[in-house]
Amino acid sequence: MSACSMDYHGIGRDVVIRNASGILTGLHGADERRTGDIRISKGRIAAIGAVNVLPDDDVLDARGGVVTPGLVSTHHHLFQSVLKGIPSAINAPLETWLRLVPTMYWRYLDEEALQTAARIGMAELLLSGCTTVADHHYLFADSYDYDPAAILFETAQQMGMRLVLARGGTTRTRRFDTDDIIPAPTQTLEQMLRHTSDLVSRYHDPAPDSMRRIAIAPNTPTWGVTPEELRDMAVAARSMKIGLHTHLSETQNYVRYCLETYNMRPVQFVAEHGWVGPDVWFAHLVHLDESEIAILAQTDTGMAHCPQSNGRLGSGIAPAVALERAGGRVSLAVDGAASNEACDMGAEMHTAWLLHRFVHGAGVLRCEDVVRWSSREGARILGLPDIGAVAEGMSADLAVHDVSQLRHAGMADLLLAPVACGAASVRYVLTAGRVVVRDGHISGLDMPELLQQARTVVNRLAACCGG
Ligand code: ZN
Repeated sequence: MSACSMDYHGIGRDVVIRNASGILTGLHGADERRTGDIRISKGRIAAIGAVNVLPDDDVLDARGGVVTPGLVSTHHHLFQSVLKGIPSAINAPLETWLRLVPTMYWRYLDEEALQTAARIGMAELLLSGCTTVADHHYLFADSYDYDPAAILFETAQQMGMRLVLARGGTTRTRRFDTDDIIPAPTQTLEQMLRHTSDLVSRYHDPAPDSMRRIAIAPNTPTWGVTPEELRDMAVAARSMKIGLHTHLSETQNYVRYCLETYNMRPVQFVAEHGWVGPDVWFAHLVHLDESEIAILAQTDTGMAHCPQSNGRLGSGIAPAVALERAGGRVSLAVDGAASNEACDMGAEMHTAWLLHRFVHGAGVLRCEDVVRWSSREGARILGLPDIGAVAEGMSADLAVHDVSQLRHAGMADLLLAPVACGAASVRYVLTAGRVVVRDGHISGLDMPELLQQARTVVNRLAACCGG
């Protein structure tokens, strides 16, 4: 028996969520807050308000809970969930961390390690109310005797999550002076595109409530591929009708490299090569000038804002509020667990809420805005218009956050508690109307077994790398 064999509840039965303290819908303006019970039928939100309970309904008692949309994390590296807190890199900035963690460990990432990491990462996300993840996976090596994409999609299906697989990789890689660090795997552009096309035919569903998507996602557009290859990737993605994703402007060094090599700032560089538009989203975007913010806003290009990872690596604070005020699109993401040991969307929302207020004052960002970034905006950026909001007709991706604990006692407005109080736990999570978390437990997941697998894998990786 595997650690997780999803036993879905509610298939064929309507689900009714009763007695919640309120609903933060993920929408903006007058529809931002609602009250009432929620009926879910055939995977969709059928009614909100006064709902009659029928004998066959699966009734979820949400007393002391706040309902939000199922949250959307737009940038992750699930494989890193067995690489948390690597001691040699715990205090290192990005470039050193890249050398000491992903580049050091990639060749030891066997099937068991990836499967365990994906389960840990998705379990963490689900238990923080997240139902959709965009996973930027860039380790595709000839030396692997397994298909990483198959493992990621199988795990997502078992856990009950929507997965956008941002298919990474590079054609160029950096070599280091020491023998113990083997450069990360590379492929030719032709190999990358052929595999991506194969993944599209096997997994990609373009539906507005898709459970499975593929995007093209080189590790970086500036030194991972040539400018010509970058342009070819954009053309290929559009011919396949899939999205484009990559890291951009995470550090000052990144901007400096682009200026020195291409005589352009990074956003100008990618815009020159076809990498802007509503089908493109970038992780980080920490270091932007006003002209770059304007380009991103005018082209509807999305930001995957990763405040905890940026803090962990000391990269800076992305101008997310400025981008949104300019008319741009901002979503929230946890990034990989090797640079954010808490891959918890609740913690990420709490951090985002505080971080921008540290710098720009208390009026710049409300709890409701952070929830909207983490749900509706993320869904729009991923091209999934039928998820990310609590409204009639939407796909029923929902989280019931428990706000009945001591830290919430005395809270005047409980709807703000999942963000303002931090560290909320979830009681129920539904994906497409299926109850995937019930009473705080992931359906079908043997948590003690997963924790034991994690320990086994971590010990093996430590032995491989002399830890
Ligand atoms: Zn990343």
